[in-house]
Amino acid sequence: MTHIITEICLRDGGCAEVCPVECIIPGKPQEEWPLYYIDRDTCIDCGACVPECPWEAIFPEEDVPSDYVGKGTITVHGSVLPQRINKPQGTPGFDQVYDGTNGRGEAVHLEGTRILKKGEVVDLTPGTALNDAFFQEGPGYSAKD
Ligand code: SF4
Ligand code: SF4
Repeated sequence: MTHIITEICLRDGGCAEVCPVECIIPGKPQEEWPLYYIDRDTCIDCGACVPECPWEAIFPEEDVPSDYVGKGTITVHGSVLPQRINKPQGTPGFDQVYDGTNGRGEAVHLEGTRILKKGEVVDLTPGTALNDAFFQEGPGYSAKD
C-alpha cells in the first residue's frame, strides 16, 4: 500500500521534509502538476507525512475519500484560512489565485485553485490515478532537480 496526496494539497512541502525514504516529489512544471506526489513503489507506508500536512491532504490509499466533506476553513501555521482544492492551471472553474507561505516562510503561488465550501462534498479518489501518472507518464523523480 501507499499514501496518496489529494487535491487539497497546496504545496506546503512539509511532508517531503519528513519522509524517511524521500519519495515525495514536488510536481513540476507546477502549472501541469500542481501537487506534491508520492512514489508508491518506494513509500513504506509509515504515515510520518500525514501529521506534517497543515492542509490535511494526505491519506492512506485505502482511506482516500470519495465523499470528502469540505471544512470551510482550516488552521494553517496558526492562521485560519479558507480550504481550497488545487487543479492544473486552466482547469475550468479553478481560476482562483492562492498566495500563501509554507512552513518555512517561503512564498507559495498557485493559479488553479478554488475555495472548497464548508459542507461541500467532493470525490478525492481521482487523485490516486494522477499521482501514479506523475511517475509513469510525467517527470517523476526528475522533478526533484
Ligand atoms: S504538506 Fe500537505 S500541502 Fe504540503 S506538499 Fe505535502 S501534501 Fe501538499
Ligand atoms: S507514508 Fe512514510 S514513506 Fe510513505 S510518503 Fe509518507 S512519509 Fe514517505
